[in-house]
Amino acid sequence: MIVGVQPLAGFDKLLHYKVPETLLAFVRSGSLVRIPIVNRLHLGLVMEINATSDCPPAKLKLISGILHEFPALTPDLLALARWMHAYYAARMESVLEAMIPGAVRDGARLKTDKYLSLAHAPTADEMTALGKKAPQQARLCEFLHQQFRPVKKSLALSRLDLTGAVVSALLKRGWVREVLRPVERIAYADNWTGGEIVAGLPPKLNDEQATVVKSVGDSLTRGKFAVHLLHGVTGSGKTEVYLRAVEQVLKSGGSAIYLVPEVALTPQTVARLRGRFEAAGHKTVVWHSHLGEGERLDGWTALASGQARVVVGARSAVFAPVKDLRMIVVDEEHEPAYKQDETPRYHGRDVAVYRAKLAGAVCLLGSATPSLESFANVRSGKYQLDLLTKRVDDKKLPDIHVVDMRIEIMRQRGLVTLSRLLVDHMHRRFERKEQIILFINRRGYSSSMQCRKCGHVEQCPHCSVSMTYHRSDETLKCHLCGHARGAPAVCPACAAPDIRWRGMGTQRVEEAVRRVLPRARLERMDADTMSKKHLFRQILGDFRAGKIDILIGTQMIGKGLDFPNVTLVGLVDADMSMHVPDFRANERTFQLLVQVAGRAGRGDRSGEVVVQTFTPQADAIQFARHADFNGFAEGELMMRKKFNYPPYRHLIHHIFRGKNPEKIKFFAEHWVKQVELKLGSVVEIRGPTPAPIEKVKDEYRYQIWYFCAQATKIVPELVKLQSEVKWPDDVMQVLDVDPMSLV
Ligand code: ADP
Ligand code: ZN
Repeated sequence: MIVGVQPLAGFDKLLHYKVPETLLAFVRSGSLVRIPIVNRLHLGLVMEINATSDCPPAKLKLISGILHEFPALTPDLLALARWMHAYYAARMESVLEAMIPGAVRDGARLKTDKYLSLAHAPTADEMTALGKKAPQQARLCEFLHQQFRPVKKSLALSRLDLTGAVVSALLKRGWVREVLRPVERIAYADNWTGGEIVAGLPPKLNDEQATVVKSVGDSLTRGKFAVHLLHGVTGSGKTEVYLRAVEQVLKSGGSAIYLVPEVALTPQTVARLRGRFEAAGHKTVVWHSHLGEGERLDGWTALASGQARVVVGARSAVFAPVKDLRMIVVDEEHEPAYKQDETPRYHGRDVAVYRAKLAGAVCLLGSATPSLESFANVRSGKYQLDLLTKRVDDKKLPDIHVVDMRIEIMRQRGLVTLSRLLVDHMHRRFERKEQIILFINRRGYSSSMQCRKCGHVEQCPHCSVSMTYHRSDETLKCHLCGHARGAPAVCPACAAPDIRWRGMGTQRVEEAVRRVLPRARLERMDADTMSKKHLFRQILGDFRAGKIDILIGTQMIGKGLDFPNVTLVGLVDADMSMHVPDFRANERTFQLLVQVAGRAGRGDRSGEVVVQTFTPQADAIQFARHADFNGFAEGELMMRKKFNYPPYRHLIHHIFRGKNPEKIKFFAEHWVKQVELKLGSVVEIRGPTPAPIEKVKDEYRYQIWYFCAQATKIVPELVKLQSEVKWPDDVMQVLDVDPMSLV
């Protein structure tokens, strides 16, 4: 048999091999194999079985080995790989590497531990003799003799305070035997939830939930591809709906994938899932970036073998090799975190929908603030809409107060971090021992420093952005490249001692809160304080336990948290996400507001939200204030239609970068002419123009936008053109299909 193999070693080309007799029974499409290329062995993936080759069979080389008993990619995953390769203009090799975990590609064997047992039962005389000659060896024999089963070598040695040499001597003597046993790893427990499992009986569904569960259940029963969009307000019990749907899948013998934007940020969801399914006897694999190689391989094997049928994880869990996939849940489907920002630049949600289509499965997307892409798909009849309009137990959505910071600044005469209204509410809630969360979407103290005399703003020497001031260590830092230096006491340009700090970040908010509520127990959570992995979980745990009164954080803490005692949420600067050069800025702002507001009033007491802004009349703010998703979506879609932006057309973002701005500009212009000639009738081209952030890490960036009705037609043409045009070595380019970030 001849097979087509895609090497994973920098060859972007399918190669043909013969399969030796001994491997015939194992090699399938999707198998990971070792293949000889020139004189070395490389890793490859079998893409085609029973292939034909131009080369005569006698000249073909043999596959030299296979890595796993199970194919690394199931047939639906192979088809998905081909689609991603074409749709996202990504090399097949990089697609396969994204889909197959490193531990699986390395073919890492299950890890083993050494165990010791007695090979020879010594007589009493022998023992006495040994005791005289080699007392340490005698002690070990004695110890092993007392145990009924083999003892872990490391354990025995540490218990008796002996070295490995003692074992070697006994091995030589033939008295002791060493065996390897697979390590018992806690592959299913996971560090982020600390093994915390929330069990408990499932609640009785309310009417709305029951309707949605039935609607999704009907699609599952039909067993055909369908996409449901669950639009449920914050706290409406979406998770419970997902759980019931997954239960149905498991009962019918199928598998389910459950995606969350970031596992580390949703320990509660993971704990609830595991509680429910493990109680029912289903191992739940938790898939996240902090897994060790061994754990990852174990989880992967459990799924590929069908031993485990549920996996929870971030983006890349969409590639889990589950058997008989029946459903993929995408929680918080609007989250930009689902888009990978390096090659292959895929969108986890869109890949989930496509995989469900290939597998004939159901894709269940859920959000309190659906993306306009998904909303448009509901309107065009592609997705089915399910609604949860009320919070569980008829709890009220929080009241949202919008504070006009322009007025506040006049009142308080000068830069204001916390408005009077917010401070009043904080006092009140604190007195009542209720908890508060303050969001500010920038870490550091203030966003820039400016000289009052000459107006100089200190910029990063490597990037075209201003440096952020961090008061905790008196530094200026670039949030793009990480460049840092001591904060100057005088203006670096004119030496005037009069520096003013503009804009604010988490540290400044922390300082302001300490001033107004000195007795409050306060924690700050941002990328600066969270560099220590487990601190995150600990702080959330302390907050839940009531050991912290006020939590200050960036948006990173805004995801899916469910703290019943939080009754006040403050959004310190709502404008930050609004005034960026991205057509999704309004959508982002609306989502941010609704999502952070959704953290308040989830318990018995109703909640309140204070939003501080300099543009209180903005649509995103007004619609969020009235929790009016439909109103917002209508208006925003009209705008998008007017400019023919996504979701009405696809956008492809092309970035050119390099050290020499003139050269980049020249080639980008040259390139645009070629595209115009070839695709001018089906693509609208804008650019090249300097990217919004023109310089990053000493590289200049130019961008081109392509708008088109169907990316599937255009992308392959662009890729073809790329191979026809001669590129200078020092001009790099990146194609990003359906980009989620334009700055
Ligand atoms: P959402 O994801 O929609 O914001 P959650 O799924 O986090 O909401 O649910 C909010 C809270 O309501 C959770 O504590 C959950 O356990 C609880 N809950 C969900 N459904 C029910 C129900 N039918 N009866 C009682 N409590 C429920
Ligand atoms: Zn920089």
